[in-house]
Amino acid sequence: MFETTLAGSLPKPSWLAEPEMLWAPWKLEGAALEEAKRDATILALKEQEDAGIDIVTEGEQARQHFVHGFLHRVAGVDFDKRVKMGIRNNRYEALVPTVTEQLRRMGPVHSFEAKIARAHTKKKLKFTLPGPMTIIDTIADGFYGDRVKMAFAFAELLNEEARELQALGIDVIQFDEPAFNVYMKEVTEWGVEALERAAQGLTCTTAVHICYGYGIEANVKWKETLGAEWRHYEETFPALAKSSIQQVSLECANSKVPMDLMSLLAGKDVLVGAIDVATQTVETPEQVASVLRAAMKYVPKDKIFPCTNCGMAPLPRPVAMAKLKALAEGAALMRAEVGA
Ligand code: ZN
Repeated sequence: MFETTLAGSLPKPSWLAEPEMLWAPWKLEGAALEEAKRDATILALKEQEDAGIDIVTEGEQARQHFVHGFLHRVAGVDFDKRVKMGIRNNRYEALVPTVTEQLRRMGPVHSFEAKIARAHTKKKLKFTLPGPMTIIDTIADGFYGDRVKMAFAFAELLNEEARELQALGIDVIQFDEPAFNVYMKEVTEWGVEALERAAQGLTCTTAVHICYGYGIEANVKWKETLGAEWRHYEETFPALAKSSIQQVSLECANSKVPMDLMSLLAGKDVLVGAIDVATQTVETPEQVASVLRAAMKYVPKDKIFPCTNCGMAPLPRPVAMAKLKALAEGAALMRAEVGA
């Protein structure tokens, strides 16, 4: 009960990439870079285990960004044709690549780090992939002329990748869909269907992560405009509850999401965000426990998985590790409290 996990990413060591930033440039290249990615992956696993995390990830140490990491090995995506585009409904601008022809994977995208991770931990291992809607919101279209069609094309590629990862021994495949908190109408129209296409035929556990973004300035400012109650989940959870996706990872800690919205996820495992990634202040175990206690009013306790609000890539490493430890200690407090 109260098995702990994290949204996905962890900060990279300063010898691998520029610290405390998104899309951080690599510090090495060629064979030295591959070796450093391998070493960082093993370190990330060790640190999660030491912190007491139950369902670990490879910390996304081998990819530069949670969306573009996948796109780098997709033919039809031209990284030389980068354009400035407003993403997440123009919340911020990003330099994004362009789709210029029919999409196909050039081969396995994440097998390298998935194999390393599987070989170096006996814990349950989760692997994250970007969801179809979030991908098409982070790339320019110069070929399909129809963003929904492009989303389903990506969903097929994600499915091929997910099946390979499952075959490598991954226990949980999670699709990251922050765009689900931006384009709520589209989520019910086609977003959940595209997500299910990406997860089609998987027999491992499937999850979707929906948050209010990394703790970067653009997101923090956006949150200030969202009012006293953030009810975005209310529009999408009913469709997700009806879907075949088994777990939903959401943001709760320090957010204005009304906790009762979790009751819309009846039957699902709920990955309750009990660690705020937008602040460097480390939560106390008691603070973590209080979020979990509040969630227990709406979700059966055996369906609660203590988690982080979002990825921790932009945080300083010691802060991220201290937060993971607080998460595990908070979960332990709750296990003691309910007599598990
Ligand atoms: Zn997130």
